[in-house]
This record gives sequence, structure tokens and C-alpha cells, in this order.
Amino acid sequence: MDSQKTLSPHVLIFPLPLQGPVNGMLKLAELLCLADFHVTFLNTDHVQHRLLRHTNVQSRFIRYPKFRFRAIGDGLSEDHPRSGDQFMELVDGMEAVTYPLFTEMVTSGDLSSKSEQPATCIIADGFFSFAGGVAQQIGIPLIYFDTLSPCAIWIQLCLPKLIEAGEFAFKGDNLDAKITCVPGMEGFLRRRDLPSFCRSSDVTDPIIKLVLKEDQELPKAQGVIIHTFEELEGTLLSHMRSLCPNLYAIGPLHTHHKVRLGSSKATFSNSLWKEDKSCLAWLDAQPIKSVIFVSIGSLAVMTKDQLLEFWYGLVNSGKRFLWVRRPGSIAGDCTESQIPAELLEGTRKRGCIVGWAPQEEVLANPAIGGFLTHSGWNSTLESIVAGVPMICWPYFVDQQVNSRFVGEVWKLGLDMKDTCDRVIVEKMIKELLEERKDEFMGRADQMSKLARKSVSEGGSSYCNLDRLIEDIRVMSS
Ligand code: UDP
Repeated sequence: MDSQKTLSPHVLIFPLPLQGPVNGMLKLAELLCLADFHVTFLNTDHVQHRLLRHTNVQSRFIRYPKFRFRAIGDGLSEDHPRSGDQFMELVDGMEAVTYPLFTEMVTSGDLSSKSEQPATCIIADGFFSFAGGVAQQIGIPLIYFDTLSPCAIWIQLCLPKLIEAGEFAFKGDNLDAKITCVPGMEGFLRRRDLPSFCRSSDVTDPIIKLVLKEDQELPKAQGVIIHTFEELEGTLLSHMRSLCPNLYAIGPLHTHHKVRLGSSKATFSNSLWKEDKSCLAWLDAQPIKSVIFVSIGSLAVMTKDQLLEFWYGLVNSGKRFLWVRRPGSIAGDCTESQIPAELLEGTRKRGCIVGWAPQEEVLANPAIGGFLTHSGWNSTLESIVAGVPMICWPYFVDQQVNSRFVGEVWKLGLDMKDTCDRVIVEKMIKELLEERKDEFMGRADQMSKLARKSVSEGGSSYCNLDRLIEDIRVMSS
């Protein structure tokens, strides 16, 4: 027998250096380790330092002798925020520094030690269009893991059609005009629901060139992993399969991960910030479904005015709230002396504020009755699994379309996009937690059951993950 065939595959995983993609891909990495694969997980130095500082990831992975981390630079200084308006600087830094380093590392064979076989497959973030050329150079398969929501990926894949139909580059005008040329979304998709870059860009913008390049590269890969489950987005997935036939819908990964690791109670933190677990004890002391959880994820930033609108809305609603205020998530200085006394008093009575929360555990806590979210795709899926209805305040990228799906298609909550007003915040919280509570809870509960079923034995995501593992084995032999 060919000795290569007896070796286990060696997968090189390279996530976009952001909280969501790193979290999802680390979970996938662990699932591949369970299948006895060699896995090399490549982070940027910045992400790697934070991961090692704030989690027990190193000791967790000790049980997998075939797993190891590697790290490379991203071209930015350690204290660069890599969020909000400065996010594009990360993209530029990676293009200038990380991509050449990656190419050199992979093509020179520096990735594998002498005792192990070289990488037999690359799994790279869908954003990394350059990875196709690298994989081709060394003659191994490439599978993209596109960590955006499938509804956003599908719109991106339709971008050439949008451009041709003149439904793109509207410079923020007439935001309620309907978009007609995205199959499967006719009737409910408006300009304001398109990914944020569509509002401000024209076809000459670098971001559009990146998206168009991604559109060309995704279908060339041997497969595309997407973070969803068939029952949530079956129609869209069949449209996507017309361009990328080999799709693996294997989400929701955090639930999957727990199922295959054999403990529904186990928690696996991949946080790049220190989790403040004190909020779990606070939640335990609150009545069932009484608390609104507020978080804008790892990249979004709000102005001081927006902070005050949110804060007044929360306090005036009279509901309990748990609010994550990530360090750096408020633009400019905002000291306690600038905050009106009634807000501080309302927070003391009914609120809890932390810098970073164990979000999956928070959403699973019985006290949570709603999630005021920026509609990041991971947060959306985590909320769906936990059966928690949402109020959506999308910030950028795929979040504008995710919130439309939550409000209009799945009917799992309310879409607050493009407004930030204390009266609306208050009204929506009351609607979600009080007036339409049963309606939203009923829908959320149904969807949560479907999500859990998809990762249980024989479910769609369970089978898709098995198919992915088997296909990698075959491609690697
Ligand atoms: N998250 C967390 N604790 C927090 C806030 C966020 O663990 O206090 C995690 C959350 O569970 C999710 C990720 O950070 O997995 C955020 O990813 P998402 O795609 O929702 O948004 P992004 O940060 O990319 O905008």
C-alpha cells in the first residue's frame, strides 16, 4: 500500500484574524482533531497573543498531539485597534505583509516539521482570495470557509448582476427602493439591507475589487464551508449551489462542537478579551426571561450620542439589562462624570455592565429574554440556537442583511437598522419582552429546535461535517 495513504491528512487552517472567524475555525479544528487529522492553525501574532492570554486554549488542545499553532505578522502595531473605522487598515496590512509571508511559509515547506507530512489541504477564510494560487502552486486542495452569513455571501456572489442591473452604487439615496436581481430575495430586499459597502462604494473602490475577486475564486475551490444549517436557509443554499456546487453547511459550530465532544455543558472559550463571568451569577439572580442582553460584538464602535440613546432606551424601558461594553467600543472619551445621574441610578437598580461576556453561556441562561445585537453572523446564530429573540442594530458588512432576515424572513425579532433613538429602543424592548413576547418566543423556540436537530446524529449539519471529513481524507490520499 502507498505509505501516503496510511497517514492522516494534514490540514492547514487560516482564519481571518477576527473574533468570529477565529472562534468558528478553532471549533472546526477541534472537530478535525477528533477525526485524527493533523491540524496546523495559523493565527496572526496579535490574535495568538490575545488567545493565549485570555483562554485556556493551549491546555485544551494538549490532548491532540497532532494539533499545533503557528503565527505570522499582520503588519500593524500591537496597540492598533483593528476595529471600527480602522478595520480597513487591517485588510491593507494583511495584503502587504501577511499574504507574502503565508505564501513563503507554505511554498517553502516551512510549515511542517521534518517528522510530519506536509499540509495536504488548506482551509482558508473566504476573504483570502490569494489562497487559491498558493494551494495550486504546491498542488494541494483548497476549501474556503466563508464566515459571513450565507445571505450576504449570496448577495456578494450576485454583485456582478447588481452592477449590470444598475442596482448598485446608489450613494445612500432612496434606501427603501427594492432590489430585484438577487434570486431568492426579490420582494423583501431593499437597498438599505445590502451589505454596508454597497451604500458608499462604486465599482472602482478597492473593497468592491476584493469582493469581485472573491466571487471569482470561491467557485474554483474544491469546496466551500458555510456557517449555517440547511433548515434555516435551504432555498438560498440551492441558489448558491448553482455557482459553488460543493457546499458544506456545517453550522451552528458551537453546538456541533459540544455534541461531538460529548458534553452539552462544556464551555470552550476562544475569546480574545478576558471574559467577565461575574455576569452569570448576576443573571442567575434575575427572573426567567426578564433580561435584555446588549452587545455589539468585537468590531463595532458607537459614538457617545448613540451610547446615550441606547442607555436612555434601556433605562426607560424599565427592564433588566446586561450590557457588554467592550474596551474601545465607544468612540472618544466618555467618563462617568459626563453621564446623567438618572442613567447611573437606573443601571444600579436593574443593570449589569461588563467589558466582555461569555456570550454563549449568557444566551443560554434562562434569565435572558432578548438580545439587542449588532447582528454579527456568529451572534445571530448563537441567539438562534439559544432560542432568544433579537432587536437588531446592524453596524457593517453582512449585518445589514442579517437583520433583514431576522426581522422579515425568519420573524425572530425586530430590525432597528438606521435609527438610534431612545424612544425606539424603549418601544422595541417592550415589544420584544412584553407585548409580542409569546409570538417571538414561539418562533425562536421552533428555530432553536431545528438548529439543534441539524447537529444531532443523522441531522443535516452532522452529515455535512462527516462528508467534509471524508472528502478531505480522499483529497489528501
Ligand atoms: N462575543 C463574546 N463575548 C462578548 C461579545 C461577543 O464571546 O461579550 C463573541 C460572540 O459570542 C461571537 C463573537 O464574539 O461568537 C462575535 O462575532 P460576530 O460575528 O457576532 O460579530 P463581530 O464581532 O465579527 O462583529
